[in-house]
Amino acid sequence: MVSQADCIFCKIAGGQVPCHKLYEDEQVVSFLDAGPLTRGHTLVVPKAHYMTLEAMPAELAGSCMAAVARVGRAVVAATGAGAWNVLQNNGRVAGQVVEHVHFHIIPRAEGDGLGYRWPAGTLDKTDAEQLVGAITEALSG
Ligand code: 5GP
Ligand code: ZN
Repeated sequence: MVSQADCIFCKIAGGQVPCHKLYEDEQVVSFLDAGPLTRGHTLVVPKAHYMTLEAMPAELAGSCMAAVARVGRAVVAATGAGAWNVLQNNGRVAGQVVEHVHFHIIPRAEGDGLGYRWPAGTLDKTDAEQLVGAITEALSG
């Protein structure tokens, strides 16, 4: 198991720091966020320490996403939320504060006041072709 001594989520996963636990299996733990954006805001965290999604093994990412779907269903049922977001921040610039990969389950309700900027542009054809080339090359690497 990959772990890091000063990591808060490693400590929660290892039972050294308490949490309001909702779900646990061999690879994943899920608990209420201590600073909820909305009622029922929940985190899904792999027990092993990886900083970001791209750093973690694909099978573990799959286990996390299975837990997100399962816990998310239960959170929605229990809170009566009409909808929910999954949020996953990788890196400080993207808003990641805790450097142990995690998935946010955020229940949503009409008028909850929670929003985000989504300043959509228009996909440029030349740039799209360049991106497809670069990303598919990276995928095959
Ligand atoms: P990030 O910005 O890194 O994606 O989100 C980190 C989340 O972890 C925040 O929503 C924050 O409220 C939550 N968090 C940080 N420390 C603790 C803690 O000790 N216990 C719990 N339950 N949540 C925490
Ligand atoms: Zn950790």
